[in-house]
Amino acid sequence: MAPDRSVIMRAGWVLTGDAAGTVYAPGEVGFVNGVLTYVGPPRPTATADRVIDLGIGAIAPGLLNGHTHAAMSLMRGLADDWPLMPWLREHVWPVEAHMTPEDVYLGTVLAGVEMARAGIVGFLDMYGMADQVARAARTVGLRAAVAYGFLGDWPDAQPKLERALDLCRALRDEADGLVEGWLGPHAPYTCAPALLERVAAAQADEGWRVHIHLAESVDEDREIRARYGLSPVALVERVGLLGPRTAVAHAVHLDARDIERLARSGAGAVHCPVSNQKLGNGVAPILELKAAGVPVGLGTDGPASTNTLNLFQEMRLAAWLQKARHSDPAAFRAGDALAMATRETARVLGWASGVLAAGRPADLVAVRWWQAHTQPVLDPVSTFVYATTPGDVRYTVVGGRLVLDDGVVTTVDEEAVLREARDRAVALLARAGRR
Ligand SMILES: [Zn+2]
Repeated sequence: MAPDRSVIMRAGWVLTGDAAGTVYAPGEVGFVNGVLTYVGPPRPTATADRVIDLGIGAIAPGLLNGHTHAAMSLMRGLADDWPLMPWLREHVWPVEAHMTPEDVYLGTVLAGVEMARAGIVGFLDMYGMADQVARAARTVGLRAAVAYGFLGDWPDAQPKLERALDLCRALRDEADGLVEGWLGPHAPYTCAPALLERVAAAQADEGWRVHIHLAESVDEDREIRARYGLSPVALVERVGLLGPRTAVAHAVHLDARDIERLARSGAGAVHCPVSNQKLGNGVAPILELKAAGVPVGLGTDGPASTNTLNLFQEMRLAAWLQKARHSDPAAFRAGDALAMATRETARVLGWASGVLAAGRPADLVAVRWWQAHTQPVLDPVSTFVYATTPGDVRYTVVGGRLVLDDGVVTTVDEEAVLREARDRAVALLARAGRR
């Protein structure tokens, strides 16, 4: 339904996601023209163009995926169980070299449908051909920060940086409030310092936000120290790229000085616990980053490394890893995980989403809890973080638009997307000589 119509949603629980952890039980959310107009206890006499009653279920801030490469859904399951460097160099990059713009578009649409079904209202993506990522996000109706990915030496990579800047400017001019352009230098081990310096200069000149992989693996740490005599974080600081408009993905291998550098700069970090575990990259020092004042959001990473775009799984693993790392079950609680997947990711992205409050964007997820695995509901935050699955999501609302409406994706023909994505993946792997 159109975002200009007024909607009221009621449920047994409304998790506002605010800093005080406010929950209304039962609760009501109202929105019109893409903006929340009411969040609080049910108002029995309130009416709207549409009234939806979830009954035994919850309404929460829409989840935000702070780091992904959505189009890599076409490579889901291509090369599991490899370490980062051979995974990238021997498996992913040789196949990506054969991807067409339509592959990137359709792969992102497929991932977008998966995210909409999992209660994700927006994502930060890094990929080449990011214009197709932007197009796909609009097709599915999700918010997106599309970081145009590039790598290489300077001046060889100059045309790529210029294409990225052109896309950022074009998206800024289109300004539909749904999609924005970022710069996406891949990582310090794939981008020469001279290229990173140019990215920093463009950021300083025109204010672009930047997304980069940083301190992800032991191999990266070793490579960067051997080449430059600096830690990856110190190198990125040295070239001028560490600042409040930069979001770094992973931030696993950090010493105390690196954490201090991140904190001083105002940069945000995005934690990707499933990817870090699956690729054997270790456990990020999340509590230390938070204690130093670094905003830490949550992301899935790409579906070729993580296999599913499931922030419920990421929330759980983020909590479990910190509990295990510190031998303390109270070290990172369910509410911390919810904050990380919503308002903290919004902070890293510079978005107004992530909290349910009047005046905020109508970005929300609604789940039904009359299920064996979610009953009884004794603590709604616990049920949301530790027991809910994407299959429980009934509504995903982005800027007031019901992208998922009672379990049905409203923006695309889902069956047609699945068929085309499968056919495109088969053809892509055949072109790459992998099948
Ligand atoms: Zn990544």
